[in-house]
Amino acid sequence: MTHLLAVGGSDAGIAAALRARELDPSTDVTVVLADEFPNFSICGIPYWVSGDVATEASLAHRTRADLEAAGITVRSSTWASAIDVDRRRRRLTVTGPAGVEEISYDELLIGTGAEPVRPAGVPFGEPGIHLLHSMTDAEQVVAALELLPAGSRVAVVGAGYIGLEITEGLVARGFDTTLIQRGPEVLSTLDPELGSLVTAEVRRHGATVLTGSTVTGITPADGGQWRVATSSTSGDAEGTFALVVVCVGVRPVTGLAVAAGAQLGQAGAIVVDASMRTGVPHVWAAGDCVVTHHRLLGTTWLPLGTTAHKQGRVAGENMLGGSKTFAGSVGTQVVKVFDLVAARTGLRQHETSPLEVPPLTRVTVADDHKRYYPGAVPLTISVTGDQTTGRLLGAQIVGQRTAEISKRIDTFATALHAELTVDDVIDLDLSYTPPLGSPWDAVQVAAQGWERAAAAANQAAVTD
Ligand SMILES: Cc1cc2nc3c(=O)[nH]c(=O)nc-3n(C[C@H](O)[C@H](O)[C@H](O)COP(=O)(O)OP(=O)(O)OC[C@H]3O[C@@H](n4cnc5c(N)ncnc54)[C@H](O)[C@@H]3O)c2cc1C
Repeated sequence: MTHLLAVGGSDAGIAAALRARELDPSTDVTVVLADEFPNFSICGIPYWVSGDVATEASLAHRTRADLEAAGITVRSSTWASAIDVDRRRRRLTVTGPAGVEEISYDELLIGTGAEPVRPAGVPFGEPGIHLLHSMTDAEQVVAALELLPAGSRVAVVGAGYIGLEITEGLVARGFDTTLIQRGPEVLSTLDPELGSLVTAEVRRHGATVLTGSTVTGITPADGGQWRVATSSTSGDAEGTFALVVVCVGVRPVTGLAVAAGAQLGQAGAIVVDASMRTGVPHVWAAGDCVVTHHRLLGTTWLPLGTTAHKQGRVAGENMLGGSKTFAGSVGTQVVKVFDLVAARTGLRQHETSPLEVPPLTRVTVADDHKRYYPGAVPLTISVTGDQTTGRLLGAQIVGQRTAEISKRIDTFATALHAELTVDDVIDLDLSYTPPLGSPWDAVQVAAQGWERAAAAANQAAVTD
C-alpha cells in the first residue's frame, strides 16, 4: 500500500489527495494542515464578509466528514517543520495537538500555498489592522466589523481583485469605505482604459477611490482609530479609519521545500516540472507555492485556485506512478465588482515582449445581445494578437454582470489554449438567440475589429 502525505489542506493538497484515492482506493492518504479549515474555499471569503454567504461553514467545498468518507485522514492544527528526504527514511516532522512526531511517507506533496505580503511599517497584529487571505484572517475581520457601527469609516489598501471584492462587501454592510490604490486605476491587471470602467463602478456605488496614491504610514489616532497617510502627485493626504484591510498581493510559502532541497524560480516559487516533481526524490509540489507553466510565456507565477486544483490533481495521479502533465495556464481570471464583471486571459500588449512578436491591441465595444431585445448592454473588449501571424495572444472584457462575460472570456481562453488565430475565432460556431447573443457574438465582433486594425496597420507598413 502506498503512503501518500500532503502538506496543505487547501485546493492543491486536497485535489491531490482526492485524485489519489479516486485512482486507487487502497492508497493511504494523510493531509496535514496548519489551520482548522480543510478544503475551505478562501475564494468565498469576501462573500462571507459581505453577508452574501450566511455562514462560515458554507465556504467548505467539502466537510471534514466528506473528506474522511473519501478515505483521507485529515490532521488539522498540525504544522510541518522538516522533511527527511533520505530515500530509506522519508519522514515529515510535524507539531500537532499531540506534540512533535514524525510521519513516514512514500510520496510527499507540498501544497503550502501563499501568504499575504506585509508591507513594512504597517502595525499588523494591532486591533483594526487586518490582512485578508486565510479563514482566520476572515474570522478576525468579521468579528471586528461586528463591533463597528454602520457608517464607520474603513479603508482597503490595494485594489487588486481581493481588494475590490472586499470593498464591495464593506459597502454592502453599510461602511463608509475608502479604497487606496497605487496605480492610475483599480485592477492593474487590466489595461487602464478598461480598469477606468471598474474604478467608475466602485465610485458609483459610493466608495471613495484614491488612485495614484501610495500609503506612507499607518499610525494610531484617537479612539482606537488609525490615521492612514498617503502620497500622490496631487500632494499628501490623511484619513482616519476604524479599520484597515491590507490586500497588496501574496508571496509563495516555500520554507519547508527549500529546507528539503527544492529549487526556487520565478517570484521565489518552488521549481517543478510539468508533472509537479520538485527534483527532490519523492517530493512533489503544487498550487500557489510553485511556479506556473504558462502556455504562452513558458514559466511564470500566477497563484490562482483554478490552477492549484489542476496541479494538485496532476500530482496526485503521478505520485501513484502516473504520467500526467499540467497542460499550462493561460492566465484566465474574472472578478465581479458590484454590477460589473472584469475578465482577462492571455497577455496584454506589454506582456508579450518575451515572445518577440509584433503585438497589436484593438478595443471594440459590442452589445451582449440583440439590441431589440430588452436589457442589451455594451461590452468593452480588448483583443491582442500577433500582427504578423494573426495568432491570438490575449483578451480583456469589462461589462455588466448580466452579460455572460465569463462565458466570453472562456471562449478566448479556449482559443488561446488551442493556439488559434484571431481569424479562427471569427470562424467558431458560437451559440445565438436574440436574448443572449447575436449571429456574430460580441467575441467575434471584437475579433473582426482586431482584424480590420491589423489590416490597416499592415497596409500602412507597406505604404511606408
Ligand atoms: C480572498 C481570496 C479570494 C480569491 N478568489 C479567487 C478566485 O475567485 N479565483 C481563483 O482562481 N483564485 C482565487 N483566490 C486564490 C486561491 O484561493 C488560491 O490560489 C488557492 O487557495 C491556492 O491553493 P493552495 O492549496 O495552493 O494554497 P492555500 O489555499 O494558500 O493553502 C495552503 C495550505 O497549506 C497549509 N500550510 C502552509 N504551510 C504549512 C505547514 N508548514 N504545515 C502545515 N500546513 C501548512 C495551510 O494551512 C493551508 O491549508 C482567492 C484567494 C483569496 C485569499
